[in-house]
Amino acid sequence: MKKLLSLFVVFAVVLSVNAQELPNVVILATGGTIAGAAPTEVQSGYQSGQVGVDILINAVPQLKEIANVSGEQISNIGSQNMSDVVWLKLAKRCNELLAQDDVDGIVITHGTDTMEETAYFLNLVIKSKKPVVLTCSMRPSTALSADGPLNIFNAVAVAGNKESWDRGVLVVTNDLIHSGRAAIKGNTTAVETFFSPLVGPLGTVNYGDINYVDVPDKKHTYQTEFKVDDLTSLPRVDVIAIYEDAPGDLIKASVDLGAKGIVTSGLGNGNLTDACVEALKYARSKGVVVVRGSRVITGFVGRNIELDDDALGFVASYELIPSKARVLLRLALLQTQDPTKIQEYYELY
Ligand code: ASP
Repeated sequence: MKKLLSLFVVFAVVLSVNAQELPNVVILATGGTIAGAAPTEVQSGYQSGQVGVDILINAVPQLKEIANVSGEQISNIGSQNMSDVVWLKLAKRCNELLAQDDVDGIVITHGTDTMEETAYFLNLVIKSKKPVVLTCSMRPSTALSADGPLNIFNAVAVAGNKESWDRGVLVVTNDLIHSGRAAIKGNTTAVETFFSPLVGPLGTVNYGDINYVDVPDKKHTYQTEFKVDDLTSLPRVDVIAIYEDAPGDLIKASVDLGAKGIVTSGLGNGNLTDACVEALKYARSKGVVVVRGSRVITGFVGRNIELDDDALGFVASYELIPSKARVLLRLALLQTQDPTKIQEYYELY
C-alpha cells in the first residue's frame, strides 16, 4: 500500500512538473466555420459560429501534450459580421492577457472571410512580442475531413513556441505560417486558401513541428504608434470598387455620408475612370483622405504612374490590397489627415 502511495506521488509530481514546463496558451474564440456545424458530414450548406470554445478545445485532446490551454469566448459569429466592437474587445483582451507573466501566447479562432483584416488590425495594435496566432477552417467542425482540429493544434504549437516571438501577429492554417500583414484569402472553398503574395509564408508547421524561413519585413505590434485599448470606435473608411465606366456618384455618396477616408479598389496599377477622379477631387476638397488601391491581388500600386498623386493629394496603397489598405487608413486617421504622413505609414507598416 505504502509502495503504491509513493508511486502515485512520483506520478503526480512528474505530471505537475510537465504541466509547469508546458507553455500557457489562451484560445480566444470568435466564431467562423471552425466553430460551424452542418446537419450532415457531406454538404456545403452550414452555419458559422455554432460551437463554443470548450467544445473546440475538447475536440483536440492532443493539445494537453503541447500546452496548458484555456479558452475564452469573445464572440460567436460568422466573420462576415466581424465588427469594430469585436475588434476593439479582442485587441484589448489580447493586450491584457499578454501583459500577464502566466500567459505565453494567444490563439484566436476566426472565420476565414475577414481574417485577413482582423490579422492585420491586430498586427498593428497589439503591444507585445509574445505570439498571437489566428487560425480558422474552411470546413465546419461536423464535416468529413474537417480541417479545424489540426489547424488548432498547429496554431497552439506556434503560439507556445519561443521562436514565434517578435514576428508580429501570425496566421496559421493548412500547415503554413503567414504574417498577419501579408496573408489573404485566395479561394472560396479550398482548404488551401490563404497565401502571402509577394513575400511568401514565414514558415511551415507540420503536426506541431515548426520551421521558420523568414521574418516580417515591416514594423508591427509594439513597434507601431497605434493604440486602441481606450477607444470605443474607429473612423469610417469606405472601399469603393472601380470598373469599366464606373461613375463617381458612389464616391460622392460616401463623402456625404461621413466617410473620413476612401480606399479605391482600382484597375491595374490603381487606375480610375475620369468620373471617379473628379469625385475623388470632391472628396479631397472635403478633407477626406484618398488611398488608391487595386482590385489586382498581387503587385505594387506605385505613386504618380498614370495619375499625378502629388497634385491630387492621393496616397498609393503600395502592397496592400484594399481590405488591408482600409485597416491601415482607419488607424492612420487616428493620428493625422496629412496624405504625405499617411503615405509614410504605407511604407513602414
Ligand atoms: N463565413 C465564414 C466566416 O468567415 C467562412 C469561414 O470561416 O470559412 O466566418
